[in-house]
Amino acid sequence: MKYKLEKVNCPVCDSNQSRIYIENAKELYFGLNEYFNVEECLDCKLIYTNPRPTQDTMGAFYIDNQGYLAPVEDDNSFYNLKIVQGILAKYYNYEIPYVNNSLWLDIAFKFYKKRLQIIHTPKYKKDGILLDIGCSSGNYLSKMKDLGWNVYGVETNKLAAENAQKRLKTNTIMNGSLMDLSFQNNFFDVINMSMVLEHLYHPKKVLQVINKILKDDGQLIISVPDISGFEAKIYKRYYHGLHVPQHLNHFSSRTITRLLSSSGFVVDKIIHQQGIRDFVVSAGNMKNKWLYKILNNIIIRKFVLKAVMIILSIIGKSSRMTIYARKTK
Ligand SMILES: [Zn+2]
Repeated sequence: MKYKLEKVNCPVCDSNQSRIYIENAKELYFGLNEYFNVEECLDCKLIYTNPRPTQDTMGAFYIDNQGYLAPVEDDNSFYNLKIVQGILAKYYNYEIPYVNNSLWLDIAFKFYKKRLQIIHTPKYKKDGILLDIGCSSGNYLSKMKDLGWNVYGVETNKLAAENAQKRLKTNTIMNGSLMDLSFQNNFFDVINMSMVLEHLYHPKKVLQVINKILKDDGQLIISVPDISGFEAKIYKRYYHGLHVPQHLNHFSSRTITRLLSSSGFVVDKIIHQQGIRDFVVSAGNMKNKWLYKILNNIIIRKFVLKAVMIILSIIGKSSRMTIYARKTK
């Protein structure tokens, strides 16, 4: 494979003091025979891939990936139509014609309320403007548009950006990176960035730009893997979210909070997600497949693993987190 490596200082605090955290972790996403070290900054404790492929040769690790481009079909399940819509009307101020007068739906709302926040739905704001950075084929933006938001997207993959443009029938999807585009200051009410920040070469600079283009009372919603989560701890080099070398920054709730505060944000809350995927895929990454075989059992998945994930989420120890932040006043 053709790529160049660069040894870097900590991408968050610029310290050159680090220690090895995981040595020779294999590239697992595409199954390439390449290995990378992951280090921990001794100053701010950020864990980061180092050395890492240079920005101009990283393309070697972004092989065309249809999964990334695929649009997700509309969800017409009972859960989505009744529960989600009801919660959006009741707790998120959305103008959805919805009448509920059943006690059990009220109970269901309370149960699912937290789950809904995980899918990045902000409170409704009339005529609100929302930007999704790394919007892919526009799955999230399509939902948000239906809910009444004026939507904008930024996407580096040309084909994905075109797909989003067609799907949303809008010219507000930009192909490129945020750093190369110029938006007005104080323009957006909500900026969403799902599973993007861990890929960025200059996370702090990007957050500083976001800070400028977000309104003073705007909201930033970010998802990233949590390297201090349970799955990351038990699977270590086989942990699906490690994802070297594409993931350059491996955050914990502590390091993401520090990065956000040094970029002009204050964290309102962090919610740990309940998905079982990392648990199962990581087991599949291991050489010995006994655990993977157990986890592949539908009963184990539906009952045991789901219960484990709910507990991990409640205690803030699952391996994906969603962070809600706003600008420092
Ligand atoms: Zn650091």
